[in-house]
Amino acid sequence: MDSALPSTVDDAPLGATLDGAVEQSPSDQAPSDQARAALEARTLELLGRPLLDLVYEAAGVHREHHDPSRIQCAQLLSIKTGACPEDCGYCSQSARHSTGLAREALMETEAVLTAAQRAKDAGADRFCMGAAWREVRCGKDFDRVLEMVRGVKGLGLEVCATLGMVDEANGARLAEAGLDYYNHNLDTSREHYEKVIGTRTYDDRLETLQNVRAAGMKVCSGGILGMGESRRDRAAFLAELAVLDPPPESVPINALVPVEGTPLQDAEALAWDEIVRVCAAARILMPAAAVRLSAGRQEMTEEAQALCFLAGVNSIFVGDALLTTPNPEPTSDAALLARVGLRPLADGPR
Ligand code: SF4
Repeated sequence: MDSALPSTVDDAPLGATLDGAVEQSPSDQAPSDQARAALEARTLELLGRPLLDLVYEAAGVHREHHDPSRIQCAQLLSIKTGACPEDCGYCSQSARHSTGLAREALMETEAVLTAAQRAKDAGADRFCMGAAWREVRCGKDFDRVLEMVRGVKGLGLEVCATLGMVDEANGARLAEAGLDYYNHNLDTSREHYEKVIGTRTYDDRLETLQNVRAAGMKVCSGGILGMGESRRDRAAFLAELAVLDPPPESVPINALVPVEGTPLQDAEALAWDEIVRVCAAARILMPAAAVRLSAGRQEMTEEAQALCFLAGVNSIFVGDALLTTPNPEPTSDAALLARVGLRPLADGPR
C-alpha cells in the first residue's frame, strides 16, 4: 500500500488530474459534476489562502450560524471490535491487517447503556456506537443494536451509529428506534479512495448516505486526513460532501493515527496548519454542519486545536479512546476548553 501513495500534487494547475490526464471541459460534464468541479476549485482556492485570512473568514461564518462559545462533546464506543472483512488501509480492525487487535463480540446492551450513562455524567451530550461490520444485516445482532439505540436515546443523549453500509429498510428501522445520525465517512477524494480501500466503492458509500437520508436520519460523513493524499484530494473530498443536497449535518475531520500492521503505518503526518485549513474550509462550505475534530487530536498541540475551534470546529470526541485509537485525557480536554472559553453543550443554557 505504501508504494501506492502518490507524491503530492498540491501545486498542480487546475485541469490536471493525478495521472496527468486532461479533465473534461465543463460543457461535457453533467450539471452535478459541474457543481462538484466548481466547488472543488473554490475549495482548492480556500485551502491555498494565507492561513490567518482563511481562519478569519471561517470564524465569521461560524459566528453567523453557531454560538461560538459552545462546543458539543461526543463519546464514541466500539460495540463490536475487530475481525472486519473490509480492507480499509488505515484501520486496526480489518481482519486483513495484522495489528494484534483483540476481537470482541457485540457488547451486551446493558454494558453499552452503562457506558452511555457514564459518558453523559462526564459531560457528553452525544453518544456514538461503532461496529466493525461490512454492512447492516437483519438478525439478532442488529436487533440488539436497535435495543441499544432505544436505550441510549432514552437517556436523553443524541445518538449516532456507524455500522457499515446500510440499505433504506434497515435505515428506517434505525430511525424508528430513535437514531438521530448515521455515520458513514467518504474518507477521502474519489481519486485517492481506491489507493486506500478496495472492498467497497466510493459509489457504495454515496449510496449508503442516500439511504440514510431516505430513511429520515441526519447524515454524519467526513474523512481522514494524512493518508498520502494531495491538497487537491482534500479539496475534492470536501467538495463531494458539500455538493450533497442537503450537505451532511455532521462532518467529522480525522487526522490519521497510523497503526502498526496497517498499509498506512508509515504514512507521513500532515502539518498542523493543513488540518486547520481543512476545518476552516469545511465550515465555510457547510456553514450549518457540526464540524467535529475527531481522531488525531492527541497528536495536535492545544494551540492548533484552539485555532481549529476559531475556524469553526464545534464538536470534539471526549473519553479515553476513539474506537481503538487513543484520545486526550478527559481532564486535559476539560482544561483546554476552559482555557479557550468553550462550554460543552451539555452545560445547559447560558
Ligand atoms: S474502517 Fe470500518 S469498514 Fe473499514 S476495516 Fe475498519 S471497521 Fe471495517
